[in-house]
Amino acid sequence: MRYQRTRHALAAGAIALVVYLLTLMQPVDQLIWIAQSRAGQTAASGDIVYVGSRQDLADPRYPERRRALAELVGRLDSAGAKAIYVDAAFDLPSTPEADAALNRALRAAPGRTFLVSKVVTALDGTEQLDRSIHVVAQGVQEVGTKSRQNYLGYVWSQTFSVTDAGIRLPSTSASMAGVRGNSAAQFPISYNFDLSTIPALEFDELDSGNATDLASLAGKTVIVGDFVQSGGANIPGQIAMPWSYVDIYAAETLMAGRTKLVYPLVSLAIVLVALLGATLLPRRRRTLAYFGIVVAIPVALNIAAQLGVRVYGADALAMLAIFALFRLRARWAAKFQLVDAETGLPTLAALENDGEVAETVPAIVVARIHRFEEVRRSLPRDLHAEYLLRITGRLKAATRDARIYLGQGHMMVWTLAEKDPALLREHLEGLRALFSSPLIVGDQQVDVGITFGVDISPSPNVARRVASAVAVAETTNETYEPIAIADTASEEDLIWNISLQARIDAALASNEIYLAFQPKVLIQSGEIVGVEALVRWNDPERGQIPPDNFIRQCETAGRMSQLTRYVLEKGCLAGNAFDEAGLSIPVAVNISATLIHERQIVDMVAEVLDQTGFEPRHLTLEITETYRISNLDLAAGVLHELAALGCKISMDDFGVGAASLEALLRLPFDELKIDRAFISQMLVNTKAEAIVKSILAMGKTMRIVVIAEGVEDTGTLTKLRESGCIVAQGFGISRPVDFETILRNHNLGHSEALRNMV
Ligand code: C2E
Ligand code: MG
Ligand code: MG
Repeated sequence: MRYQRTRHALAAGAIALVVYLLTLMQPVDQLIWIAQSRAGQTAASGDIVYVGSRQDLADPRYPERRRALAELVGRLDSAGAKAIYVDAAFDLPSTPEADAALNRALRAAPGRTFLVSKVVTALDGTEQLDRSIHVVAQGVQEVGTKSRQNYLGYVWSQTFSVTDAGIRLPSTSASMAGVRGNSAAQFPISYNFDLSTIPALEFDELDSGNATDLASLAGKTVIVGDFVQSGGANIPGQIAMPWSYVDIYAAETLMAGRTKLVYPLVSLAIVLVALLGATLLPRRRRTLAYFGIVVAIPVALNIAAQLGVRVYGADALAMLAIFALFRLRARWAAKFQLVDAETGLPTLAALENDGEVAETVPAIVVARIHRFEEVRRSLPRDLHAEYLLRITGRLKAATRDARIYLGQGHMMVWTLAEKDPALLREHLEGLRALFSSPLIVGDQQVDVGITFGVDISPSPNVARRVASAVAVAETTNETYEPIAIADTASEEDLIWNISLQARIDAALASNEIYLAFQPKVLIQSGEIVGVEALVRWNDPERGQIPPDNFIRQCETAGRMSQLTRYVLEKGCLAGNAFDEAGLSIPVAVNISATLIHERQIVDMVAEVLDQTGFEPRHLTLEITETYRISNLDLAAGVLHELAALGCKISMDDFGVGAASLEALLRLPFDELKIDRAFISQMLVNTKAEAIVKSILAMGKTMRIVVIAEGVEDTGTLTKLRESGCIVAQGFGISRPVDFETILRNHNLGHSEALRNMV
């Protein structure tokens, strides 16, 4: 890749050379020259004067025209004209008398009068010199004009002499300029001369003897021609001018010495060298250099125009354009490169282009390899790819041959159909375990630290989802949180999340966040024996946001403590209010397991109890997501302190996630809530029923209160009662409701539903 740019420049140069040989860029060169001609206008010498007739001077049917011309030649001569050129071929005889008169007049000023013969192209494509007949031309000097007009009507060059059938004549322009270049060499015609500085007179006015006009011609070179010759020539800025003007411009070019050229190969070489130099520069300077080259070209063309130098620049421009195309293609290819060059693994671009992934929306897993660069640096260069492939090999062994994509910073990405967070965690924990034994790379043992970020959002925007998985992978660490799941619901959420930090503070202040209460009841009597405070967020724009969603967001935004403190305060205040209304029951507040690694929570609970005056023994702390407790010793210390404050400690969601039993063994729980995953299956799944029953039995022996969560129907409730369960909670008993509803139902005795069910 290192010299790719230079290679591209050379290839562009080679292609431009072919383009030049095929003369493909000629039209562009002409446009450049036209622009150059218009850019560098200067005054003509004024020494060459055009005298134009509106009639065909050579038409043999009009002998009077030849006589008038003979007369004019005589007058011009007596007025002191330096030289007189008659730009018409008298190829057919008129009356002998008229022809003789013209010949006489032309011969009267020997050395100063010239007849112009033109090279014309015959129908068969051959070129012939169109000369005047002998009676007119005998004894008169001849000059020749060969103007090759191109398809745009321009004549860009002339020769110093003209040859036909063994006759060599000086060219009209060389003769008028007084240049004796008797060669067939070409010179470019410069059209930089301002047309208005070339004197032009009407034949008819001179013919009628205009004295001042005649006097102005002393010492001038005069070319007499007519306007009616077929077609006419284009000059930049004018179309269909009399052909004599081409000779006049050519003569002026010769007199001013503006015949210099920059040949195509020269400009091509100059630009190529500049380009090659630029490709070797570091990035910033390179961009500047490219820019410089592009700007330098019009500037150089303009300077050349002012100096009267014609530049063939189109091929050099073509080379630049070809180079630009090469580079664009290379960039495009790099951007959409589907395979990593070093390892042959598919890249993220390949994943993002995979329509199936966008359609089926699987979980996107990103593996972050810790100390990757360190390890890589310690390995010899030729083992770098192998190192990566060993890692992916082990990943593949455990992911049932998933296609593994290589991301930036050596993140490895793949997809999984499983989207249940708990099962994903389980699977990824298994993967981590696989990496606890070292890899063998070459003959070295390499330890691999691996953590995971997962995106399970339902968006079809794969690039976004990968970015989100990478972002959560960045937050992981090997000891404390090796697996992180980004469960943003949609793209909109992603944007919304960014402003979350500010939003949460505002929502807490404005009561958008509030509490709902769900009763815990005695199955036997339906009596309320406690309530669980569940947080609710009613966002004005998005409506009710489920706590599962925004609690995770609060965590990432670093607002968990604030939220927990808020719920604790409101929960304790509500508890006081229940008390005053005659309902003296415990209030349960959910505490995320991630908070019980630090003593801060102890101070917080103590402070809130102190401030609100709520009775500590009526405060139950439900520790949620206990599988996230990474250090049981630390957690045990904190929970013991909380218990010492007088609070009850409850283990929420018992049974799901790993390490439940160990946590139960080592942490001081007063209460256990069987997760609704088991309760909801009790009636249809005997295994679930057995698990619930044994947990109930276990609770009895441990002298721990066991609560059944998620009771949705009477059947389940009956089954629970038969199994010896004492306290239950669930939609079938009461949904989470507001403070007043709890009070009202309590005062009524039981809720309707409760009476029916129990
Ligand atoms: P959780 O602590 O297990 O709370 C019980 C959840 O189950 C509540 O969902 C409740 O509405 C729901 N539920 C109750 N009975 C039934 C039922 O019969 N069927 C079904 N399908 N669901 C039932 P919610 O309110 O959406 O809360 C979800 C989780 O969010 C809670 O699970 C808890 O882990 C967390 N959470 C709620 N409030 C807080 C809080 O203030 N702080 C913390 N840290 N977490 C909270
Ligand atoms: Mg709970
Ligand atoms: Mg629960």
